Amino acid sequence: MAILHAKPTHYRLRCEGCGKTFSESGYRLYCDACGNSALLRTEYLAPLSLSGAPDRFHSYDSAIPCIPSVPGWNPRMAAFAAPELGAELGLDDLWVLLSGNAPEHGAEFATCSFKEAEAVGVLARVAAQTDKMLVVSSAGNAARSFLDVTLRTGQPAIVVVPRRAVEMMRVQSAGGRQKPLLIAIDDASYSDAIDAVSVLVGAFPDRLIREGGCFNVARRDCMGIPFLSAATRMGRLPDWYVQAVGSGTGAISAWEGAARLTAAGIVAKSDMRLLLVQNHPFTPMAEAWAAGHKVTAPMAPEEVRDKLSQVAASVLSNSTPPYAVRGGIHDILTASKGDMVSVLNDEIGKARDLVRARLGAAICPASGAAMAGLAKAAKQGKVGRKDRILLHMTGTDPAAAGGKLYAPDLVVARGDMQTLIRAIDGYLLRAVA
Ligand SMILES: [Zn+2]
Repeated sequence: MAILHAKPTHYRLRCEGCGKTFSESGYRLYCDACGNSALLRTEYLAPLSLSGAPDRFHSYDSAIPCIPSVPGWNPRMAAFAAPELGAELGLDDLWVLLSGNAPEHGAEFATCSFKEAEAVGVLARVAAQTDKMLVVSSAGNAARSFLDVTLRTGQPAIVVVPRRAVEMMRVQSAGGRQKPLLIAIDDASYSDAIDAVSVLVGAFPDRLIREGGCFNVARRDCMGIPFLSAATRMGRLPDWYVQAVGSGTGAISAWEGAARLTAAGIVAKSDMRLLLVQNHPFTPMAEAWAAGHKVTAPMAPEEVRDKLSQVAASVLSNSTPPYAVRGGIHDILTASKGDMVSVLNDEIGKARDLVRARLGAAICPASGAAMAGLAKAAKQGKVGRKDRILLHMTGTDPAAAGGKLYAPDLVVARGDMQTLIRAIDGYLLRAVA
């Protein structure tokens, strides 16, 4: 019996492509007409209203599709002015949104990343709207969050990661009788994990349901809550929102959240530009944006693996990000007059050292990439000295938080779908919904 009860709230879905609306009817990911060329967006029938302290997740329940109920889970989210760090970058009005595990700063995502909000929200939607089991692929952070949340709640789920991500699978929860199934694919990239999930959903269409990545409104709306919390506490939208991106889902969430805050009158309408950062050489979106292209260039599997092996922030490695889709990264960069920069590994390393020295926080490489990207943009004059900037550090270092390594239940060779399917078959037989 899943402990994760979820109450659907009142909302409808609107297509960013054709504008058609849908009443929610069971975990819809796509518009009937536009398919995967456009995002669906939630429209809540009542405006966003805070139901508690602005730094607590559940205070924003009016802005998520299905309200999770995990015992004891209502993390604090950290957002604060960071003048010392700003001075290092030549910026007068820098705010930091720290979405990780750093209780001394007020950041209480136990799994060290804002992906925890995604996991809780998606699992709530699965429980509320389907009888199927979630199968999710991840480059790292999201997998750790899904593992921890399902260990805590007992809700069965299957998590597929590239083997290189196994060392990041540190969990805080011991779990009970029913545990999630962790599959690691050898010599694989994030794309290989995504492909494996597609095969599995095809093999068990009546039993398994995919997360849907950026197309899942529960994922986006829940990942957007830390931004809502930060802007509420700032009392206005930032002039620049800065984040490192792999798929860019978090940035889309923040952009959608800004519209929600202004529509509700919680902050005044003002221009918010997006500065999005990728880790060189895994930079499909930064390259497309710089070249003025509306789509990212296709990457061959060997190119994906080669570039992935060269980046410090391995979680920023989606080779087919939602860039060209309506409502996706190209659209929001255009609408916000935003920009993208890419950063090198040693710039990320220096940024992490600087944050440790100035804030006393051990941030993850993706957060270091965001910080390094902001430093570069400040140096180049892309952002103004007096601009109010919100730098989203989306995770802290999981190794610094301790926890226990969660060993994969199965390591499978890339392409060995028979072994994979047999393992899933066994788990489905054992699992209790
Ligand atoms: Zn449509």
